[in-house]
Amino acid sequence: MTALHYLDANASQPLRPAALDAILAAFEVAGNPSSVHRAGRGVRRILEDARDVIARGFGGQPQDLVFTAGGTEADATAIHAMSAGRRLIISAIEHDAVRSAAAGAAILPVGPDGVADMDALEVLLSAGNPSLVCLMLANNETGVIQPVEQAAAICRRYGAVLHVDAVQAAGRMPVRLDMIGAHSLAISSHKLGGPAGVGALLLAPDAPFAAPLVGGGGQERGRRGGTPAVALIAGFAAAVQANEADDPHRLATMRDAAEQAAQACGAVVCGDPKNRLPNTSCIALPGTAAGVQVIALDLEKIAVSAGAACSSGKVQTSHVLQAMGLGTLAGEAIRVSLPWNVTEADIDAFASAYRRVADRLRATLV
Ligand code: PLP
Repeated sequence: MTALHYLDANASQPLRPAALDAILAAFEVAGNPSSVHRAGRGVRRILEDARDVIARGFGGQPQDLVFTAGGTEADATAIHAMSAGRRLIISAIEHDAVRSAAAGAAILPVGPDGVADMDALEVLLSAGNPSLVCLMLANNETGVIQPVEQAAAICRRYGAVLHVDAVQAAGRMPVRLDMIGAHSLAISSHKLGGPAGVGALLLAPDAPFAAPLVGGGGQERGRRGGTPAVALIAGFAAAVQANEADDPHRLATMRDAAEQAAQACGAVVCGDPKNRLPNTSCIALPGTAAGVQVIALDLEKIAVSAGAACSSGKVQTSHVLQAMGLGTLAGEAIRVSLPWNVTEADIDAFASAYRRVADRLRATLV
């Protein structure tokens, strides 16, 4: 049986072996980290060690890290906790995790390269209302890296608060809240090789936090109620540490090879080709629907995704590519995102499958 070539890391990364070991070891330890007895203290040690690794790994302090049930909850918590009395401004390319929590927000436009317009941010903020701005660090569909340091400086000049969704950037490029200068950062474990269902919101020491999204028993210093998923959190921390040993050039070289093979078949790369995550490529094949390409590649045992696949599995036209003004190409782009354990055999398989698929789909166009 031919192997499956998994090139959909931005949907979810394969679990790191070190993360699995840490999860299994933590599951062996019984107890609730809030209990005062010896058993509880043992579990609490696992939790606090993980908090330390993750907070410091992303340029923050352990007491400012709030564990959540994933990236979606981290984004929703940031918006819920920091938007009181503030007008919301979100970039046009935010993930649905932000968009769905920010109804009625003003939209910050992006250019054809997929980069948010900082002049427009300045214009929006100069209206003078207190604001909460959401700008992601790297886009999940194009991989394009956003000018978050510049956005943070502008926000601070106008007294605005900045939340950065770093879900796709974390583990693929250096990410430090203290260097960015934002007020908060959302991170998700399964996007960096840890288990799904756990994530974190890292707050800057001066972040305003009016009220938790999930109340309950006052866990996480009153910022997120509920018993934390300690074994998953241990796996999350182990994945963060494992990522530090990765070589981003290895991924970028393989990503470029996959992209060149597609371009040789007439495909177009979407978004700023230089300022991107090393593992992500968004490639449109003019005249062929993204969903058809995904299915044709799946039949070739290549797993990629269309711009945005909702949870029902239906392919929708990408709001990200539409915001970049790509017109019909917005419905014709697939996302190839390389996992940490990608091999040259995966890239070779992709290149030859893409050639076959492009030839076949092109033949049906005439
Ligand atoms: N933010 C971005 C940019 C994402 O790509 C995703 C997931 O695709 C999320 C947030 C949501 O993360 P999670 O799946 O952990 O809820």
